[in-house]
Amino acid sequence: MDLQLKDKVVLITGGAKGIGAAIARGCAREGAIPVLVDKDGEAGKQLQMGLQRSGASCGVICADLLPAANCAAAIEATLRDFARLDVLVNNAGINDNAGLERGDPEKFLRSLELNLLHYYNMAHYALPALKKSQGCIVNIASKVAITGQGGTSGYAAAKGAILSLTREWAAELLPYGIRVNALLPAEVMTPLYKQWLGTFPNPDEKLKHVTAKIPLGKRMTEPDEIAAMALFLMSAQASHVTGQHVLVDGGYVHLDRALT
Ligand code: NAP
Repeated sequence: MDLQLKDKVVLITGGAKGIGAAIARGCAREGAIPVLVDKDGEAGKQLQMGLQRSGASCGVICADLLPAANCAAAIEATLRDFARLDVLVNNAGINDNAGLERGDPEKFLRSLELNLLHYYNMAHYALPALKKSQGCIVNIASKVAITGQGGTSGYAAAKGAILSLTREWAAELLPYGIRVNALLPAEVMTPLYKQWLGTFPNPDEKLKHVTAKIPLGKRMTEPDEIAAMALFLMSAQASHVTGQHVLVDGGYVHLDRALT
């Protein structure tokens, strides 16, 4: 299947590690140009060097996405260096446990900043370039938007809002032919996930407990399996797919619990 991504410029927030990095590697394999926006500049540069060694082009912007001005600057830098923008992958986020009982209004607001506001800001500032390229947006959400998790109101609210914005933007951007879709991972081994596991007294036991409940293969989803769907959604092969919420989770959210 020809994804027709060659020379497309794909801006990936949180692209230096985890799921974002897998999407960046996938883009490079398809001949696209990933541009990573990440506050971990060192990891971004390492990934960039690796991709360049294999002959790919890759941009890195070391920035925290929280100030809206940094989002605008990331778009400007991409256009300055690569002259176009075809795809925005809104991916950076963190499950920060700003809960109802243990959180407070400030933590809740901070969680929305960490997980939601920059999705809007990036899309807002990217829009003129996406209109020109008739590009698309892939929003990384989470199964927590559908299932809840407990103790993480801010993250759940942000991810739920991302699903709503995916529908809203798909509707608003119909006249420009800009497609907008959301991808929902559930359990994917990344630096963020390892950090979360580390908060349990026995991380190995917790991991076994989780994977035993994943219907397909009783295993975690690989970052590359998330990336494969992201690549499809941004490709010409998904030319009539918009406003969709796609779960890549080995059946974790929707299949009968009796199966595990
Ligand atoms: P990860 O391993 O932490 O990688 C994310 C990268 O984004 C990190 O390099 C991080 O930098 C960077 N980042 C985070 N916030 C940023 C900000 N405000 N500005 C700039 N860079 C920022 O995370 P991941 O597990 O790949 O998760 C990626 C996305 O998938 C998130 O939206 C997450 O909610 C979603 N997701 C993941 C899972 C899972 O199982 N892993 C499940 C459901 C949804 P630092 O490391 O310096 O913070």
